[in-house]
Amino acid sequence: MTLLNKKIGVIGGGIGGLASAIAFAKFGSQVTLYEKALVISEVGAGIQISANGINVLTKLGIYPDYLKSVGFPKNIIFKDYKTDKAITEIQHNQDLNLPYMQLHRADLIEALVARAKSLGVNIVLGSKAKVINSGDSGSKIKVNNSEVFDFDLTVAADGMNSTVRQYWFGQRPSVFMKQIAWRALIPSNGMSIEPTVYMGINKHLVMYPLRNGKIINIIGVQSNKNLAPESWTNDGSPEKFYNEFSDFNTSVTNILSDITEVKLWGLYSHPTLKSWSHKNVVLLGDAAHPMLPFMAQGSCMALEDAAVLARVLNKINNIDTALKKYENIRKKRVTAVQKTSIKNGKFFHINNLILRKFFHITMLFITKFHPSFLKSRYNWIYNYKA
Ligand SMILES: Cc1cc2nc3c(=O)[nH]c(=O)nc-3n(C[C@H](O)[C@H](O)[C@H](O)COP(=O)(O)OP(=O)(O)OC[C@H]3O[C@@H](n4cnc5c(N)ncnc54)[C@H](O)[C@@H]3O)c2cc1C
Repeated sequence: MTLLNKKIGVIGGGIGGLASAIAFAKFGSQVTLYEKALVISEVGAGIQISANGINVLTKLGIYPDYLKSVGFPKNIIFKDYKTDKAITEIQHNQDLNLPYMQLHRADLIEALVARAKSLGVNIVLGSKAKVINSGDSGSKIKVNNSEVFDFDLTVAADGMNSTVRQYWFGQRPSVFMKQIAWRALIPSNGMSIEPTVYMGINKHLVMYPLRNGKIINIIGVQSNKNLAPESWTNDGSPEKFYNEFSDFNTSVTNILSDITEVKLWGLYSHPTLKSWSHKNVVLLGDAAHPMLPFMAQGSCMALEDAAVLARVLNKINNIDTALKKYENIRKKRVTAVQKTSIKNGKFFHINNLILRKFFHITMLFITKFHPSFLKSRYNWIYNYKA
């Protein structure tokens, strides 16, 4: 179907929902986006967007015009947690037209909202939405359990705990991976830090600067048997975070001691869904495929989903065929990225001391004698043009 003048409903005003609203509006659709929150705001955290995501942001007209305070790090350093010594350093291919950016999530959301509004997307806040019907001629969205609206197609981008997925796609329960993640931002107060991953035993910690170095973004992940909710907004205890990572070197613990507010969430694996669409409702982003964070690709995958979905729908007349095509293209890729992410998580947390030493020596060896291997290892992810 051509998307011109089609009525598209989008549920969820996160990165995936806003990107798909923009992609559909660019093809001339009349888009209404429902977000349950009263304001579209973002959790206080940094986000890394690799070239594959930047490609979509560029095509959607968001980058560079709408984005501010973006950092383009030259490299990321992997250090031993205890000695603070570098194990390896991976250079980003900024020079090879494969940019890699780090920015505040709120700045990305603000840019997406501004771009969506510029294209006439109707953003309706304070609207908890659900799909109550999906048939051959369209779908119906019920908002705040009262009003019902008709659409040619509904895109459900309502995140990893998607209610649309639970209702329409018979989701099986997710499984706690016995890993928890801590996330905090602190003012840098003039301290300059480089993007660094500290590799510990059964845990790792990532730090990078945001907003021209004014803020430090901190994420700590550890193996832990105690269940934590799958929610990015769950409060944690700064003292507990400090204690859990107190065996790290003082350049880390000094920074951790400045944290006054921290979020804590559990990492879960979600079973792959049999199908991402039902008649005229389709899942996108974390709603379709929640990602583990070890490749920093969840948002990039949602951006790619948005670009591919709008494109195939605009090109292929039969909606079932178009939605199947979207799913075929995207499922293969997100599954491969997800597998890479799981592997990465294992490398970050090796607890066998001999294996750990061997891994670090191998990394040092590769860095010294075959640096291009590390630089290009993920090019199949970053080079992709959705
Ligand atoms: C700390 C952290 C760091 C991360 N770092 C990176 C990174 O560096 N790079 C990267 O690519 N990815 C990263 N990710 C992953 C990435 O943030 C997610 O994959 C991405 O946000 C998914 O976007 P989404 O739009 O699918 O879902 P969400 O961002 O979860 O958006 C869903 C939206 O739907 C709304 N909603 C839910 N239910 C309803 C309803 N019934 N009605 C209306 N609205 C509803 C929610 O309020 C929310 O606004 C990170 C995640 C976290 C937690």
